[in-house]
Amino acid sequence: MSAIDHLLVVGVGLIGGSFALDLKRQGLVRRVTGAGRSAANLVRAHELGIIDTVAADVGIAARDADLVLLAVPVGAMPAVFAQLSEALPTDALITDVGSTKCDVIAAARAGLGPRIARFVPAHPIAGAERSGAEAARVGLFVGKPLILTPLAENDAADVARIEALWRACGAEVARMDAREHDHVFAAVSHLPHLAAFALMEELAGRPQASTYFRYAGSGFRDFTRIAGSHPEMWRDIAVANRGALLDELDAYIAKLQDVRALLQQHDGAALERLFARARAARREWIGNRNHE
Ligand code: NAP
Repeated sequence: MSAIDHLLVVGVGLIGGSFALDLKRQGLVRRVTGAGRSAANLVRAHELGIIDTVAADVGIAARDADLVLLAVPVGAMPAVFAQLSEALPTDALITDVGSTKCDVIAAARAGLGPRIARFVPAHPIAGAERSGAEAARVGLFVGKPLILTPLAENDAADVARIEALWRACGAEVARMDAREHDHVFAAVSHLPHLAAFALMEELAGRPQASTYFRYAGSGFRDFTRIAGSHPEMWRDIAVANRGALLDELDAYIAKLQDVRALLQQHDGAALERLFARARAARREWIGNRNHE
């Protein structure tokens, strides 16, 4: 695979920084410029060798970019697309790592206009509760799924190019329709984050919160792990995927109401059957993952 001459990463955090590090390590990029928000994070990215240059301005840095990766929170993407549209060379490719796809694609269409064909949307299913350049690391994507949601306008060669770069990072690439992507991830990612944030918030607001937390064990720790995630990033994801997330919340609340009714009725046998079905489904899921 030929190397990228100039990669511009907008948002040099956990995901954008890790992508740049992997490509650099493999000689798949000659020069990386970082753009973002705080100077402190970009300076740190430079010190860590993630980027070679700090961009003073996204538009100026984009002028000779071959590939631009958008790795900012999804709510920040519309402004970045708008900044890029005038500046990018016509043959530059653009991709992203946003956790939601329909809103990012809509923002790209609005910002890039007729150049939308050069935008290949993507979402790596790899993450952590840490953020910023400091959190970036080589190998983050190894063995992890990477979902492409290509556009009708995309050239097959451009999609293949983005796919090849993610494969080089060790990701297992799959393709999905953007709407389906947003529905699936509302259920398996966005809803669990909301549930974890809500449980932590509810307990933390109690007068005796410190007593509860002192005795909370590993089950509580596992359930609430993702409440340690970046609030700004999750605000954007929740708002962007509001429709699908409301559907999933309603389904979950209805199931909790079922559980509540069984409890109220002292129906231990029905509760046990529900728990057994849930355990079997989880064991099957974990078993299938172990064979992947
Ligand atoms: P991150 O570590 O917080 O990095 C995001 C970077 O974007 C930060 O360096 C931040 O700058 C910068 N930024 C924030 N707002 C900006 C703005 N308005 N303009 C310019 N730069 C801005 O976050 P991340 O985990 O890498 O997530 C980046 C993207 O990947 C998000 O779209 C997220 O949905 C997606 N994603 C995340 C995960 C995950 O689990 N973390 C997984 C898959 C996809 P500062 O440092 O100055 O704040």
